[in-house]
Amino acid sequence: RFISFEGGEGSGKTTQIARLAETLRARGHDVVTTREPGGTDGAEAIRKLLLEGDAGRWTGRTEALLMNAARAEHVERLIRPALEAGAWVLTDRYAHSTLAYQGGGRGLESDELIALHFIATAGLWPDLTLLLDIEPEEGLARAGKRLDPNTRFDEETIEFHEEVRDVFRDIADVDERVALINAAADPDGVAGAILAEVEARLNP
Ligand code: C5P
Ligand code: MG
Repeated sequence: RFISFEGGEGSGKTTQIARLAETLRARGHDVVTTREPGGTDGAEAIRKLLLEGDAGRWTGRTEALLMNAARAEHVERLIRPALEAGAWVLTDRYAHSTLAYQGGGRGLESDELIALHFIATAGLWPDLTLLLDIEPEEGLARAGKRLDPNTRFDEETIEFHEEVRDVFRDIADVDERVALINAAADPDGVAGAILAEVEARLNP
């Protein structure tokens, strides 16, 4: 089974992945946790290009290609082999982040991004996506992140984050494999809501 965790900064994806992994392992499952961009040596090298140093040099289109190059590595070398071996794979971000950030945030067409995703992965979509939804103001405050004028993230105004959130929510509205989770609740409450979705859909 393949589950992605999505949501804005400070929505609690990393914490909640660890909790679900622990629950599934306690039930005897093999669980692989990973993240994007990254998850393998090559993909982590691409992550550095995207997120460190002068990240503002990339156009939105280049960013989408690099995200998908990282994903091609991640899927072929880690995710598919783990799924074939029978593990549960939990990833911190995947394709919906590209739709939200490079689509909603940076203005690329979703059709183009979906075509690119097909090329990168031969069409591997998660069985379930947990969208941890929170107000950008609250998430950014939780993450202790200010809008920093010195990085690529100079484009990341509060409106940018609102746009990202809107795309995530629009996808959850139309795609039944995407479950909207209220991430403003306390961590135990969020973990409970996530486990309820997993139990209802994936028979863990
Ligand atoms: O919190 P996390 O480690 O997931 O953050 C990764 C960073 O990469 C975030 O700042 C997010 O805005 C950015 N990102 C992006 N486009 C993606 C995935 C992540 O801009 N498709
Ligand atoms: Mg995180």
